[in-house]
Amino acid sequence: MQAWVIGNWKQNPATSHDVDLLLNDLLTTIDTKEQADTEPSNSRCQLMVAPSCIHLAAVSAHLAGSSILSAAQDVSAYSASVGAYTGDCSAQQIADAGATWTILGHSERRQYHNESHDTLLQKMIHALTQGLGVVFCIGETQAQYDAKQTLEVIDAQLLVVKDLLAQQPELIVSLSEHLIIAYEPVWAIGTGKVPTVSEVSQTHQHIKQTVTGFAESLKVMSVLYGGSVNADNADSFAADSMIDGALVGGASLKVESFLAIANAFSQAKG
Ligand code: PEP
Repeated sequence: MQAWVIGNWKQNPATSHDVDLLLNDLLTTIDTKEQADTEPSNSRCQLMVAPSCIHLAAVSAHLAGSSILSAAQDVSAYSASVGAYTGDCSAQQIADAGATWTILGHSERRQYHNESHDTLLQKMIHALTQGLGVVFCIGETQAQYDAKQTLEVIDAQLLVVKDLLAQQPELIVSLSEHLIIAYEPVWAIGTGKVPTVSEVSQTHQHIKQTVTGFAESLKVMSVLYGGSVNADNADSFAADSMIDGALVGGASLKVESFLAIANAFSQAKG
């Protein structure tokens, strides 16, 4: 199965100029590597980057013709297309900007924007019906982890997928190709702390079993790990058969570490 390594740039870089520098560096490094390796670097690992909304159209245009996909970090819950929703960006506008995926339910959006089950369900419906793939983030807080509530929390968050299928049963056929789950313990994001590979593996097994219970076709859905993945620890996550890739924050802003993570997954899943 092809691995995924997705860079969540969050509210970075600060300027369009810095975005261009980062992308030029990324594309040039990949090009040089491909010429040396004779094998396309994305053959076993699909790369994707999620810039801030203001940079999305430029990033998508810059990446057109390359093997790297672009994603938004969020979509409007209120309308899939147009409307009086100040500050929002719709799934249709995101697709029009050239992106093919969106992240949804990142813990920072759940925390700072109070994203609820109903909001995320609406966002997911809008994204999928506009043809966008969805990287759906789930994960427990430190207090929930300490209280051994990880699976309970995840089960509650995954109900969005169950309810999606109940409301839009026609999506079942293609959902495994358009939905990726990113398991991101909140306490591991940007902290340098990581769960053990065995903990992540067991949680991923649980996620895969749970979504397969919603629809047999989701058996092949990719489940990524996110939370302080870096060039040093990527190998150990990549080696586990339950971990289909990584959602990367901080380390995706440096080409060297982002591609080292991609290389770890590419090698391990080859
Ligand atoms: C993230 O925000 O999705 C993330 C995984 O961040 P970091 O890699 O910096 O922990």
